[in-house]
Amino acid sequence: MAADRDFHHIENDDQYKGLNVNKGVDQPQTFNEDSIKRFLKHKRKKVMTADTYVEGILAGNITMLSQAVTLVESSKREHQEIASEIITRCLPYSGKSLRIGITGVPGVGKSTFIESMGKFITRRGGKLAVLAIDPSSERSKGSILGDKTRMEELSSDPNAYIRPSPSAGSLGGVARKTRETIVLCEAAGFDTIFIETVGVGQSETMVHSMVDFFLLLMLAGAGDELQGIKRGIMEMADAITINKADGNNIEKAEMARVQYLNALHLFPPTDSGWTPKVLTCSAFHHLGIDKIWETIEAYVELVKKNGYFQHRRNEQSRYWMYETINDRLKSDFYQNNELKEMTAAFEQKVLGQEMSSFVAARELLENYYQFKKSNK
Ligand code: GDP
Repeated sequence: MAADRDFHHIENDDQYKGLNVNKGVDQPQTFNEDSIKRFLKHKRKKVMTADTYVEGILAGNITMLSQAVTLVESSKREHQEIASEIITRCLPYSGKSLRIGITGVPGVGKSTFIESMGKFITRRGGKLAVLAIDPSSERSKGSILGDKTRMEELSSDPNAYIRPSPSAGSLGGVARKTRETIVLCEAAGFDTIFIETVGVGQSETMVHSMVDFFLLLMLAGAGDELQGIKRGIMEMADAITINKADGNNIEKAEMARVQYLNALHLFPPTDSGWTPKVLTCSAFHHLGIDKIWETIEAYVELVKKNGYFQHRRNEQSRYWMYETINDRLKSDFYQNNELKEMTAAFEQKVLGQEMSSFVAARELLENYYQFKKSNK
């Protein structure tokens, strides 16, 4: 009886029986969650006709512009097809903006500068699109150049459009998508386009090949090697700006300005007839921003008059045509599953001195052409 008492619980008394909660059985869901998710995904990703996009873009509709840019960035064949159509149709409305490349090592103040210069432009009634080519974004996913909070004021400005770097593919592929995005932004009425990149390597060449003016941001007191700026990049610059010229840094910035000016004198004269300028600014305190804008305007006036502006754009179009062919041919070859094994086997033979590199390459290419022919 003692045991009975120990395990007694008041809810087991007869008077409480009605309050018992039975365990029950699993109920089916009132709706099918999976199918709802699929439906929403489908709805979100719904691709409209090229007509709708083009109409929206030409009317300056930012949502349409963003969606079209997403199609440009997509690797899906059906998206690429519609993106090509949109671009072709927007092309006659493009080309009227001023395209400015901005580079410099991380920390130099690129986003602070873009925010400051960007607000300067929109305050004057301009419409600014900020695009980026960030070679690291594929690896890090959280793209450093895509972080909108860095440009808080600008990202809430109705006359500014900030688009992070496309993240997938080779640098050439990423750059090509950015170049196509320029066309769409211009058709949507943006009259100034900034293309930002981190000054650490190859991506500057890509940016240089799609802008009218190339601005290099530098810091005073940091050696060139420290800033990762190669001589070739300095040579591409139409202007160098020493940023953070404020507080007790003003004097150092001025000294650096003179040094860079002297360094630029050693370079051969530019094809544009323009002498690259070296300026100082404080992006954070909005100092010297107007002078930089005046410099850009003076450059544009000169090169529009002497014909270099159009010449540079033509050269860029030519470059991108061949660059795209090279890119496509390469990826078509390397993505060919039939050839993958053979390529790996030939590589081993080359490494084992059983085959020369050239014979291996020739045979692989012959096989590739053969494959193409039989799959026509
Ligand atoms: P990014 O990596 O090149 O985009 O550089 P950020 O714009 O993020 O700036 C890096 C740091 O430098 C931030 O702490 C900024 O506040 C600071 N900074 C940027 N511009 C200036 C400037 O003109 N003067 C000073 N003193 N600091 C600045």
